[in-house]
Amino acid sequence: MPELPEVETTLRGIEPHIINKTISSVIIRQPSLRWPVPKCLIKRKLEKKKIESIKRRGKYLLLESSNENLIIHLGMSGSLRIAKEENLKKHDHIDICFEDGTILRYCDPRRFGCFLWSKDIDTHFLLKNLGPEPLGNSFSGDYLFYKSRKRKVPIKNFIMNSKVVVGVGNIYASEALFSAGIRPSCMAGKVPRKKYNLLAKEIVHILRKSIEEGGTTLRDFVGGDSKPGYFKQSLRVYGREGEECYECFSTIKGKRIGQRASAYCPKCQSIF
Ligand SMILES: [Zn+2]
Repeated sequence: MPELPEVETTLRGIEPHIINKTISSVIIRQPSLRWPVPKCLIKRKLEKKKIESIKRRGKYLLLESSNENLIIHLGMSGSLRIAKEENLKKHDHIDICFEDGTILRYCDPRRFGCFLWSKDIDTHFLLKNLGPEPLGNSFSGDYLFYKSRKRKVPIKNFIMNSKVVVGVGNIYASEALFSAGIRPSCMAGKVPRKKYNLLAKEIVHILRKSIEEGGTTLRDFVGGDSKPGYFKQSLRVYGREGEECYECFSTIKGKRIGQRASAYCPKCQSIF
């Protein structure tokens, strides 16, 4: 599933190819994504217009045109690439075609992504309740500490809640909690401030590192047929249940928290 670093990599990969170019047509072959794609509206708003900026908010991409926004989410399996007409594949649902021949192509086999239009992103139902960006100025250990007081939810669920902070997926939550030495099942309200400071630093670190690694894949956004911009993570607990901890050689344990598998090292993650 595309996470925040992949979405950021996507932004950087497509931006130089489409910014300030005039759109000739929008082709929507399959409008049944997570929400129905407003076909006529998007065509009317974009054709003969330009994308003036691209921003990311959480895992949403916001393509701005005439002070309004195309909101794109990649869902479970979506990807965007710069394509050529002749290479059309089965799950290529949407093309944004530019006058110079460039095509921004959306592929999504499972169709959980979205293409929606918004006049005002601050009040849009998908965006209005989002917490701060983990790589922005308003995110810190102190912020998490104050936000978590009296909260009786496992810390892993707390940091994965997009109302608390956006873009911390299962992989990043698991790995950051390992680095900070906090067990995923620990109640959010019980974690001390010092540990939240460490955790916030680890979340920022792992996201930045993943974005840096993604930077090496930028050229994959152009031409190729394969899914661009995704990269291997170096993981220390996520998906390693039953294996040995690299730090202390204890066996990594697994526990279901909420609906998700959560791996942790019982020795390294001693705050519980
Ligand atoms: Zn360990």
